[in-house]
Amino acid sequence: MPSLLHQHPPPDLATSPTRPSLAHRSHPLSTIVVGGGLAGIATAIRLAERGVAVTLVETRKRLGGRATSFTDPATGRTLDNCQHVLMGCCTHLIDLYTRLGVADRIHWHRRLYFADARGHIDTLEADDLPAPLHMARGLLSFRMYSLTEKVAIARGMLAILRLGAAGRRHWHDRTFLQWLQQHRQPPSVIDRFWSVIVTSALNETPARASASYALQVFQEGFLAHERAYEMGLAAVPLVELYDPADQAIARAAGTVMLSTSAERFHFDGRRITALELADGRALHADLFVSTVPFDRLAKLCPPNLTQADPRLHHLDRFQVSPIIGIHLWFASPHPSPPAADLHQPFPFPHLILTQSPLHWVFNKGTDPDVAGPDHSPTQHLHGVISAAYDLVDRPAEDLTRLADAELRKAVPATRHATLVHARVVKEKRATFSIAPGTDALRPAARGPVSNLYLAGDWCNTGWPATMEGAVRSGYAAAAAALQDHSLGEPAPVPDLAPATLTRWLAR
Ligand SMILES: Cc1cc2nc3c(=O)[nH]c(=O)nc-3n(C[C@H](O)[C@H](O)[C@H](O)COP(=O)(O)OP(=O)(O)OC[C@H]3O[C@@H](n4cnc5c(N)ncnc54)[C@H](O)[C@@H]3O)c2cc1C
Repeated sequence: MPSLLHQHPPPDLATSPTRPSLAHRSHPLSTIVVGGGLAGIATAIRLAERGVAVTLVETRKRLGGRATSFTDPATGRTLDNCQHVLMGCCTHLIDLYTRLGVADRIHWHRRLYFADARGHIDTLEADDLPAPLHMARGLLSFRMYSLTEKVAIARGMLAILRLGAAGRRHWHDRTFLQWLQQHRQPPSVIDRFWSVIVTSALNETPARASASYALQVFQEGFLAHERAYEMGLAAVPLVELYDPADQAIARAAGTVMLSTSAERFHFDGRRITALELADGRALHADLFVSTVPFDRLAKLCPPNLTQADPRLHHLDRFQVSPIIGIHLWFASPHPSPPAADLHQPFPFPHLILTQSPLHWVFNKGTDPDVAGPDHSPTQHLHGVISAAYDLVDRPAEDLTRLADAELRKAVPATRHATLVHARVVKEKRATFSIAPGTDALRPAARGPVSNLYLAGDWCNTGWPATMEGAVRSGYAAAAAALQDHSLGEPAPVPDLAPATLTRWLAR
């Protein structure tokens, strides 16, 4: 990490300080970052590295925002609200994990497991051919698609390659389903291939998702680079990934104020003058970075601020998309399995269900703390349903039954296992919906109110609602603030360079 340039005083909690002009400041630039999710952490770390005096205000007890964990009262276990997946192309998120010293807590999976309705398992893994051919042999060997279907998929992939970034942008205001239909993709391929990937990557269905973002998933995630598709999963509860952020900000003489809610910005018609907290205190600083979601930001803005800044005019126009996470603990059918792995009726690290309302199952391993009927350890599985519009209002018991039944259909080895415990987590407002036209709503980091910067996965990053998008937004806000105050430019994080053949095909 770069060395720190300055030490600085603690945040100013006075009610009306006289702030020195920024041009002649005698103390380090002070910045309040509102929100301690990935965007807030990314902003704070990048600013703190440059000697900016950062105060991060987070309403919850821990950092991490939506990518977080909670304590299940029934088992005492720390559970993730939902499995969070990253891919090899998430270069900014990987950079942040490296800065936080937690990159080794992400385990990478090169082989992806798919199941069809009859329980046939196919695997997909890159071979040594260069991108974009590295997955071709794997896909050709799939038993769940007919030859005609594989040819249709290959045709679609080639069309995506030829489109390039500019071509994708032309499709922003139309749905991915429209693109698929225009490219004569058969309904069976739409349902069992394109939809499977897009719905979990974008948390949106092909019929609702902007085509440009869906096309980007295939281009950047599968075609551009041999490692782009690799899947990273945290080997620890999500919340543990972000604890080091607190320490890193504190080491840089910054302050993290947990369990502290922001209530309202004070705006004098030109600049933000303070952030009022829910307990009535006011925090003053040179700069303010909001990293909270759009609906929370709307509540922080007084009417004169909303009016003054066009970035705040459309905060009520974002739509949201739900995700359901279902934790399941299964006991082995064998009363006393001779080997530890027999406690694990589900034999895969994960499974993508291509013809099921349950989209993914992740294997969280043997859990000695949740016992089966004979006191033996159980296997902890985690199911995920993305874009769960039709299911999110169903009772938790129904969703548990659905996940249990779908799992037993797809994986015969689980059919005789006993479901010991389940915990359903519904996130009705999991992410913003990346619908056609959404880019027109997504704000830039900078705007006319010169000391207010915006970040958050919903800002204009060119990425969908993901951890990578959140980190990109935080890095962009920090870079804008540093540039505007002549504090240098943080080194940009490069994307994975597209392979030569991919570049050539896109010409
Ligand atoms: C169920 C689920 C599954 C997901 N799966 C994936 C996945 O597999 N892969 C992936 O890349 N992404 C996934 N995402 C999306 C990912 O979690 C988000 O894109 C990312 O975490 C957003 O980060 P953020 O910092 O922009 O926002 P947030 O995480 O929402 O952070 C905002 C922070 O601001 C705080 N805050 C709000 N209001 C105030 C206030 N008034 N005062 C102080 N603090 C406040 C909040 O408590 C929060 O900590 C998933 C999301 C959900 C919900």
